[in-house]
Amino acid sequence: MAVITRFAPSPTGLLHLGHAWSALQTWEAAQREGGRFLLRMEDIDTERCRPEFDAAVLEDLAWLGFDWDGPVRRQSEHFDAYAGVLKHLEAAELVYPCFCTRKQIIAEVQAAGSAPHGPLGLIYPGTCRGLSTGERAERIDAGENHAWRLNWAEAARRSGPLTWHDRARGDITANPAIAGDVVLARKDTPTSYHVAVTHDDHLQGVTLVTRGEDLFEATHVHRLLQAVMGWDVPAYHHHTLLAGPDGKRFAKRDKAVTLAAMREAGMNPEEVLAKARKLAGES
Ligand code: GLU
Repeated sequence: MAVITRFAPSPTGLLHLGHAWSALQTWEAAQREGGRFLLRMEDIDTERCRPEFDAAVLEDLAWLGFDWDGPVRRQSEHFDAYAGVLKHLEAAELVYPCFCTRKQIIAEVQAAGSAPHGPLGLIYPGTCRGLSTGERAERIDAGENHAWRLNWAEAARRSGPLTWHDRARGDITANPAIAGDVVLARKDTPTSYHVAVTHDDHLQGVTLVTRGEDLFEATHVHRLLQAVMGWDVPAYHHHTLLAGPDGKRFAKRDKAVTLAAMREAGMNPEEVLAKARKLAGES
């Protein structure tokens, strides 16, 4: 079966050398296997994402010679679909509204003396999990601020043991406990990265998720969502991240290594990709 893979940047800044490396990994997987290379803008954060960065992504990819198959999918145009996922999980009693502030959560975690952080951040102590249906409805109706959290233990109980195949690390047993009851939506943002990315990978028929290894831990949550939603399970390739000579990963604030800056400095696409390969230790 021909591979369908995707490059899914968030247009919150200009692409840098690390993105070129990620796009190259994705492009090569599609080329090698006679497959499709999809482009998705993960722009659910409407405050931080900007049209000029979206346009710059298209320009940079075209310059690198990576032409994508089919139309670009923009997540900001599909909030209804993600809200539908939440409704489904709500009806299945796998999410619950949480009214805690971050401050309250930290205080509670500290009082319990448990380790406050997992690899995806603070692990929620479950304070609002046991609220009655009546209290939930009352507080929501009163307009109280809230987030929707996944009841991971119930989801895992229903789905049973889960695994995924990672091209970089082999067969992995999912361990969603590391994330706990993650936030899947907020009162004012009807979705989250976890919901939008797994929904879209399924909808777009993605068979290989190519992305940086900084997102490896999130896959524990994604695998659980796929199971409870009955979605297809792609293979994963969590690739290495590029670091500069100082050993630090490239970030959007590193202006000197944006693809636009390198282009303006006279580098051609082959040189940029060769530089990425070199930093990755490939040549
Ligand atoms: N939008 C994410 C990022 O820019 C990538 C998500 C993914 O590939 O799953 O880091």
